[in-house]
Amino acid sequence: MTNAILPVYGPPPVVFERGEGVRVYDDKGKAYLDFIAGIAVNSLGHCHPALVKALTDQANKLWHTSNMFRIPGQERLAQRYCDLTFADRVFFTNSGSEAVDTCLKIARRYQWSQDRKERIGVISFTGSFHGRTFGGINAGGQEKYREGFGPRMEGFRTLEYGDDEAFKTEIAKPDIAAVIIEPVQGEGGVREVPEERLLMIRKLCDENGVLLIYDEVQCGAGRTGQLFHHQWVKGAEPELMACAKGIGGGFPMGMALASEKAASGMVKGVHGSTFGGNPLAMAVGNAVLDVITGKDFLANVRHVAGTLTQGMESLKDRYPELVVAVTGRGLLRGLKMKKDPLPLRGLLAERGLLVGTAGDNVLRLAPPLIVTENDVREAIDIIDQQLSAMMTAAGA
Ligand SMILES: *Cc1c(COP(=O)(O)O)cnc(C)c1O
Repeated sequence: MTNAILPVYGPPPVVFERGEGVRVYDDKGKAYLDFIAGIAVNSLGHCHPALVKALTDQANKLWHTSNMFRIPGQERLAQRYCDLTFADRVFFTNSGSEAVDTCLKIARRYQWSQDRKERIGVISFTGSFHGRTFGGINAGGQEKYREGFGPRMEGFRTLEYGDDEAFKTEIAKPDIAAVIIEPVQGEGGVREVPEERLLMIRKLCDENGVLLIYDEVQCGAGRTGQLFHHQWVKGAEPELMACAKGIGGGFPMGMALASEKAASGMVKGVHGSTFGGNPLAMAVGNAVLDVITGKDFLANVRHVAGTLTQGMESLKDRYPELVVAVTGRGLLRGLKMKKDPLPLRGLLAERGLLVGTAGDNVLRLAPPLIVTENDVREAIDIIDQQLSAMMTAAGA
């Protein structure tokens, strides 16, 4: 069979037909434990009844009107996120890349409107991923995503992740508008930025009149046990934050959050989106937030994450020839392997466990936030059996 799809992905032959909770089923009826959740997207698992209801109720009322008209669900969701975070203003998008782009535009526009027109520079870090739009690949810390797409946009520069001296020098330059960082690097290898470094970056941004942008597209929406990951760190609030993935639970939606100060340059007509924040997306977005902010929900994420940590640490202890380290936090985790984990990912799928990979030889786990301790034990068991089989095959 020919395939008319642009071949930028190379998926395996399996076809998934339906999902329920933490499980998906292929067209032959085989069940899989889903520990990647559409890359941290299906935050409430598959077909969560509250989301199905919100979506179908709204689908029977009104789908789309355009932002040229008021959208009550949007006003409500924006206010709720502002009440729960540093933010005073929200712009809804359809994806994480667009949320990143919006943050970058807001940052430059702020500096421009403060009569600091020379400030267009954006600092990012190696290994970071900020999406696939032109803004995203130019901000991102991975050269390979820019290859063949023309010269890098003016102002964007990438510093070595963890090189604090280089950062201190660069941020003091007079053309810097903003710093963009993932508080937990997802694609780059599930690396949590140490608390002291986040605070250091915050402090130097303040001292140099530079805006701080967090990309919490992957680590936000409750994934690490706080609504947004940076809320673990007191005093590290940004001026801008890009979110997507889990906040829509599988419905395409993203948002840029901004402080009043950062947003001050964004006046009528300077930005827009046809679909962003439409009634369908907002119905689902509000329902997702209802569940995540429900009583004990995040406490339960933290609790189950503890079980996952124990399981992953035990795998590291039992298979030191294969596993190097356990990384990440909450339910965004990496099992750093000695070798490229791509073949392992395929073997785990055959055993009924779906996982992802990330840079730096990391096997990535990002189960739905509704995952139970039993699901976690089952997943760890499957990985255990596979690693054990690999040791046997290696003649150990
Ligand atoms: C997935 C991701 C993006 C891009 O989001 P899209 O919805 O694919 O555009 C940006 N930043 C981070 C950290 C991500 O994980």
